[in-house]
Amino acid sequence: KEPTEINKLADEYLRLAYHGLRAKDKSFNAILETDFDENLGLVNVIPQDLGRVILNLITNAFYAMNEQKTAGVHAERSRGAKANKEYAPTVSVITKKEGDTIQIIVKDNGNGMPKEIVQKIFQPFFTTKPTGEGTGLGLSMSYDIVTKGHGGELKVKTKEGEGTTFTIIIPK
Ligand code: ADP
Ligand code: MG
Repeated sequence: KEPTEINKLADEYLRLAYHGLRAKDKSFNAILETDFDENLGLVNVIPQDLGRVILNLITNAFYAMNEQKTAGVHAERSRGAKANKEYAPTVSVITKKEGDTIQIIVKDNGNGMPKEIVQKIFQPFFTTKPTGEGTGLGLSMSYDIVTKGHGGELKVKTKEGEGTTFTIIIPK
């Protein structure tokens, strides 16, 4: 572990995820929002590991927003209406101090998850993605890095059709 500027780390991996996706799919677009607490100070973490968690969460968020967009396009076709034209895929990364912990929050307005799915997402190899697009390892690895690697917690809140928020909690 080393004293780390969490905001810088989060910003770096947000950009990495975004540009990685843009390189694969030129039509991919999303609004990136950040709300960083400037008073976090240095936090003792394993930067590469925590960076990987942030990258996993953001990559999942982008995927979920693409699903949401596609769902809108299908709805539009079947209804013959202009549903979801206004959909603006948005991912927000927020950092804050909360008691003696710091939080890194990754929020998307993607397709969200039903209860049956959200129960399983931290299991190794659980994926809803087609073969080749997901290994189902991202969140189980992320969970281990946050809990075992940093003595923290990884929490999720989600609503089907509306979006998902993951919160990384790390003791300071
Ligand atoms: P993978 O991305 O390879 O499928 P993960 O462990 O990263 O594996 O995620 C497991 C599953 O959790 C995904 O297949 C998806 O169903 C669900 N999931 C994860 N993040 C999100 C999200 N932000 N929005 C909706 N579903 C999500
Ligand atoms: Mg993933």
